[in-house]
Amino acid sequence: MSEPTTVLSGDRQRLFLAIWPDAALAARLHELTRRTLPPGQGRAIETRNLHLTLAFLGSVEPTCRSCVESLAGEQRPPAFTLIFDCLGYWPRSHLLWAGCSQPPAMLRSWVDHLRGALRRCGLEPETRPFKAHLTLARNVRRYSGIGRGGRVAARMRHERVDDVAPVEWPVTALMLVSSETRPHGARYTILREWPLG
Ligand code: ATP
Ligand code: MG
Repeated sequence: MSEPTTVLSGDRQRLFLAIWPDAALAARLHELTRRTLPPGQGRAIETRNLHLTLAFLGSVEPTCRSCVESLAGEQRPPAFTLIFDCLGYWPRSHLLWAGCSQPPAMLRSWVDHLRGALRRCGLEPETRPFKAHLTLARNVRRYSGIGRGGRVAARMRHERVDDVAPVEWPVTALMLVSSETRPHGARYTILREWPLG
């Protein structure tokens, strides 16, 4: 018997725009999670599901998907490298994530462009400033760091950030991805890919 999936009305799909690590990088990130998660804590994101969301569309009709597809790839930055050099923990959402202490400025403008594309297609994208974070594990109830010293400013925002040995991610494409909720977590399918310049 096939697994039940989320029921979406009509032809709607739950979609997001993201960047996806290649298999070797995803394996390194998964290994970082394995080394970092306290024993018995949390659920590591499966290697094949690791990604970084740039803009979330939500559940949309095919016409809206086409609209976003026609606009999202309009302005693509040249290929660039993201350097993941810190780990963060959000106690309220129980998420452990990897982040970039110095994200390139063009990442913010690229995300602004994608959010603008969503808006032009009638969607209401996130308005909070974009913060690149790659979720490594969920349901992490307790995390006291990995011993390299948390940053005070981060702690004051009720998050904890630790430095880690930098992991380089060469970003070469934008992906449109669908998400289906399955009993054992989300299942993602890459629907379309735009290479960066
Ligand atoms: P699940 O919700 O099944 O536990 P998930 O959160 O990974 O799994 P989705 O909720 O479909 O799957 O989300 C797909 C991606 O979009 C994830 O990276 C998620 O963090 C992000 N996302 C989900 N909802 C929003 C939102 N409202 N705003 C911004 N990003 C979102
Ligand atoms: Mg979700």
